[in-house]
Amino acid sequence: MTNSLQKRFWLIVLTACLTVIAIFAEFFICTHLDHDCVGDACSICLQIEVAQHLLEKLGRLGAMALLAFALGNYTKILVKLSVVFCSSITPVSLKIKINT
Ligand SMILES: [Zn+2]
Repeated sequence: MTNSLQKRFWLIVLTACLTVIAIFAEFFICTHLDHDCVGDACSICLQIEVAQHLLEKLGRLGAMALLAFALGNYTKILVKLSVVFCSSITPVSLKIKINT
């Protein structure tokens, strides 16, 4: 398995794991919203709060991953454009005559 293929495989596995975690957290919140609350020391309220923080962090992580993906593609396009423009400018292509 090539290095690029391994990276892609682990990226898919990581994304699948984070998606499953987000789905279970959301499911936990939805199923426990109308619980019999005992007050300030309610463990279910604490777990709901932890799940909400987890979903918030995963949302930020997704936004950062999307931004990194967009910047990565933008950087690749800039590199390709610079290679195209810089490699086409040669003394021969500019028809510069060198008199020695
Ligand atoms: Zn509660």
